[in-house]
Amino acid sequence: MSTRPPVTAYIGLGANLGQAAQTLRWAVAQMAQWPGVQVQAVSDLYRTAPFEAQGPDFVNAVAALHTPQTAPDLLQNLLALELQAGRERPYRNAPRTLDLDLLLYGHASISSPHLTVPHPRMHERAFVLVPLAQIAPALVTPDALRDVKNQAVSKLESWG
Ligand code: AMP
Repeated sequence: MSTRPPVTAYIGLGANLGQAAQTLRWAVAQMAQWPGVQVQAVSDLYRTAPFEAQGPDFVNAVAALHTPQTAPDLLQNLLALELQAGRERPYRNAPRTLDLDLLLYGHASISSPHLTVPHPRMHERAFVLVPLAQIAPALVTPDALRDVKNQAVSKLESWG
């Protein structure tokens, strides 16, 4: 049996319905139980104003996983977690109990009908760049952070 070398993937987590912080912690705990997956780092939890979305403020974080899953399999598992958390999509950008985005998958560039990596809008979003810079500063340039500094992001609680 061949084993795939693990890849470092970065996952963006967000929620603005229900017990958002608790849901994010639950989601990371679920990821830690996926076969062969190690959670390498998780950012603090940040409170952010809705950006191209509706409803209450969001809680956001970014997690780094060391994973043997292919990118499409990882996406499927993320979408399944969203459903388990009660995610519904009544309309575009509706408030959500859990939103999971595959931000980066190693150095891969992927463009398929169901998956685009790096996530196409990650560089426009302070709620991604600020937590990502906390756990992987080499991946976020000062210029990128400066470009989104008009978006309100404040630390809500420490992860650990
Ligand atoms: P959303 O409503 O924002 O949660 O969008 C989820 C859909 O976006 C999924 O069904 C995916 O097929 C698609 N998608 C494309 N690229 C990505 C990505 N990098 N991370 C998460 N979802 C993605």
